Amino acid sequence: MNKMKVRFAPSPTGPLHIGGARSALFNYLIARHEQGQLVVRIEDTDLDRSSREYETEILESLRWLGMEWEEGIDKGGENAPYRQTERLDIYTDYARKLVESGHAYYCFCSEEELEQERLQLMEKGETPRYLGKCRSLSQAVQEEKRNSGIAPTIRFKVPENQVYVVNDLVRGQVTFESETVGDFIIMKSDGIPTYNFAVVIDDVLMGITHVIRAEEHLTNTPRQLMIYEALRFKRPEFAHISLILGNDRQKMSKRHGATSVIQYRERGYLPEALFNFLALLGWAPPGEEEILSREQIIAAFTLDRVSRSPAVFDIDKLNWFNQQYIKRLNIEELHTRLKPFIEKSPLVGQFEALGDKERTFLLEAVHDRLVCLEDINEYLSVFLGETVYEPEAVEVLNQEGVAEVLKYFAANLSEFEQPDEIKAYLKAIGKELKIKPKEVFMPLRCALTGQMHGVDLHYLIGVWGKAETLKRLQAAQNKFNL
Ligand code: GLU
Repeated sequence: MNKMKVRFAPSPTGPLHIGGARSALFNYLIARHEQGQLVVRIEDTDLDRSSREYETEILESLRWLGMEWEEGIDKGGENAPYRQTERLDIYTDYARKLVESGHAYYCFCSEEELEQERLQLMEKGETPRYLGKCRSLSQAVQEEKRNSGIAPTIRFKVPENQVYVVNDLVRGQVTFESETVGDFIIMKSDGIPTYNFAVVIDDVLMGITHVIRAEEHLTNTPRQLMIYEALRFKRPEFAHISLILGNDRQKMSKRHGATSVIQYRERGYLPEALFNFLALLGWAPPGEEEILSREQIIAAFTLDRVSRSPAVFDIDKLNWFNQQYIKRLNIEELHTRLKPFIEKSPLVGQFEALGDKERTFLLEAVHDRLVCLEDINEYLSVFLGETVYEPEAVEVLNQEGVAEVLKYFAANLSEFEQPDEIKAYLKAIGKELKIKPKEVFMPLRCALTGQMHGVDLHYLIGVWGKAETLKRLQAAQNKFNL
């Protein structure tokens, strides 16, 4: 049997969205699972909206997520070129074949005529479609129209009263009636093919065995089936994967927050976390465990576990995944991943000035708290920035007994090596002064950070060291007369 060959065919009209990334991922996963091949082809026939910048960005997003492909746009391969605007001769040839075999014809109708037909059908309550005015123009009339300067489109002649059936690998049997489809354009008057035509020619010539794509293309499938039939091409298998909905069960859109992969990257989601999360948008792993490595997902990924119902994009779940993946990094890896985020911070100089030991304390302190890598900025301000006092913290500092705790702390703090020593010291203060641990921690935290909550106090002190801690404390004591 032939090896499975699938493709991801983005239109470079915007950045790679979550939905596109999920389609790409499912193709990638099944290709790896089956030890087949993945092709990446660029469908840039919408000349006004396509750009090379988007193309580059899409490929970069795919790579960042950890996908690679055997054949395609920047890889080359035996079916090059992989950009549709570089394949126009191929489409022209096949369109001509369809005209010659009577499956397609030249259409000279103007925009105005088409608009009028549309309006008339709508007035009658019918589906707007092309009724076939140019279907049987004589050669002479065609010649005349051409000579008068009209550049024709080429329309596909939709067979009458046909039923098209596709056994979709996700949706099951889907039936389409040809009556609902009017003769549709396959080549525009400027020689550019339409999506439904180019996609068939490319999928066939590139040897695609399985077309796996978003559900929104299901309505395009009957037109494509007609072209397969007319050209006597063997059809591939189809699998249409469900929509992705936001938490409110509406189609995912900008309203739901970040929609492009780049945005998630910029916020500091780890690619492996997003990879894992996207794989679960419409695919259910066989076991209970959801945190799965790339290899585990590949090993388990089959189309029969892809769901027909819409997937829900739950940002809280993604955040949880990201946090789990961050927790699994060791401190060195965490540092490497955080670097690009730290470099953008105004406190980068202060961070770089830290000694190895202090830097490690800082990273250890934030490790379990980061939801996204960009959260490091907040923590850098607490560790390395100016203290900003929130009103609740000021209230704490005005309470009775606070001055005594701060004084005791300052007077008895010795040099230390590890945050744990500070932890023990803070405990001892409570015992010595016969107060609850909280009555030690709160005043110190509020004085030293200006905040009621945050990273463990002994880590903060660990990073600052004795001298800096006492300096900060003195500043608070002066400010609040403590
Ligand atoms: N270029 C189409 C898109 O970006 C791909 C459709 C297909 O996979 O057939 O939606």
